[in-house]
Amino acid sequence: MSTTHHDAVVVGGRCAGAATALLLAEAGLDVLLLESGRRGTDTLSTHALMRGAVVQLDRWGLLEEIVAAGTPAIRATEFHYGEDTVTVAARPGSTPLRAPRRTVLDPVLLDAAQARGADVRCATRVTDVVRDASGRVRGVEYAERGTGTTGTALAPITIGADGRRSTIAEAVDAGYEHRGHASGALLLAYWSGFGLDRYRWFYGPGVTAGVVPTNDGRACVWAGAPSDRFDTLRGQLDTGYRDLLAEAAPALAGEMAGGRMEGPVRGFRGVPGHRRTAAGPGWALVGDAGYFKDPLTAHGITDALRDAELLARAVLAAPSPGAAQRDALRGYQETRDRLSAELEAITERLASYAWDLTELRDLLPALSRSMQPEVEALRALDRPVELAA
Ligand SMILES: Cc1cc2nc3c(=O)[nH]c(=O)nc-3n(C[C@H](O)[C@H](O)[C@H](O)COP(=O)(O)OP(=O)(O)OC[C@H]3O[C@@H](n4cnc5c(N)ncnc54)[C@H](O)[C@@H]3O)c2cc1C
Repeated sequence: MSTTHHDAVVVGGRCAGAATALLLAEAGLDVLLLESGRRGTDTLSTHALMRGAVVQLDRWGLLEEIVAAGTPAIRATEFHYGEDTVTVAARPGSTPLRAPRRTVLDPVLLDAAQARGADVRCATRVTDVVRDASGRVRGVEYAERGTGTTGTALAPITIGADGRRSTIAEAVDAGYEHRGHASGALLLAYWSGFGLDRYRWFYGPGVTAGVVPTNDGRACVWAGAPSDRFDTLRGQLDTGYRDLLAEAAPALAGEMAGGRMEGPVRGFRGVPGHRRTAAGPGWALVGDAGYFKDPLTAHGITDALRDAELLARAVLAAPSPGAAQRDALRGYQETRDRLSAELEAITERLASYAWDLTELRDLLPALSRSMQPEVEALRALDRPVELAA
């Protein structure tokens, strides 16, 4: 069993963890990133990035690689309210949105973290935090998959970027700032033969659907419903998926008949959202570990990248334990919460499926407006992340 010392330990190596590690490493910190999975594995997602994520990937110099991987440009968004369609075209000259497969996005971020100096170790599961006599978190204990080799990694800050069921959040007993009640199920599959230039969202009473163009000439076509309806579909996901799509998006029938489903239908039952205390003595949470919401608003990746940058800036502003670090981390939490509150409330309402189409015509424009302060805050961060002198 070895013990190593670092400036920061990041637990989890997908969008939140890899982005945080790359920003910290790029600024000169000694960063160890531990990821329990193998590099490049897939995860359940509908892939849609919103404006803030594209702004950041571009600024970090990673958008080109994502485009080069064959991720199509999204130039419009269609909202289908029952029979009515509203199309919002991208502003002329604006950078198009993208929806990379997670087998593209996550490795691009992880490789960038490594290239910028982070020590990235996959197939390594963090099992617990290490504390000092005062209770302050000083690092983590981990075990390598396969060899079973265990170790301890120590650092002034341990960052939990380990997803919705975060080991770090549980180990530090991070409190809940908000706990949602509503949750929706999503069933998804990849299709060829669909148009690839726009997001399409469909809403009907108690059902939703979407088409998200992604890599390999395919679209991720998903259908949604309240979680309890998912429970009636056990063992018949394929039929349930097609029934939901027929209900929510009859307009897709032609493309489905002419296209081809590539691979199986996959399902997510849904769980209510939560927002946990973002930081404490020696630890911080980023991404779903600290703030998870229903995927219906397709904003988890965008928020994970946003919070990675907010957290990295806070850590770099005060990398050593003490009052300055406490204040910087408190500032991270305040900004995260301020930029999240409205979208979180709208997501909760949408995931309840208690709306009708009249309410939806107010909710969806409000959802778009709620993203604006986030985009402005991210655009304002045009200076590189720097380590405090
Ligand atoms: C069905 C579905 C569809 C979605 N669609 C969209 C969408 O269209 N757009 C969007 O923006 N968001 C979407 N999301 C949300 C998005 O997937 C998440 O918000 C995002 O993945 C959060 O990233 P993260 O890095 O915080 O966590 P994760 O992606 O969950 O990554 C956490 C990582 O930590 C690792 N880990 C966990 N525990 C440990 C441990 N103990 N030690 C070491 N490593 C550990 C895991 O292996 C994992 O790789 C969707 C979610 C679901 C479920």
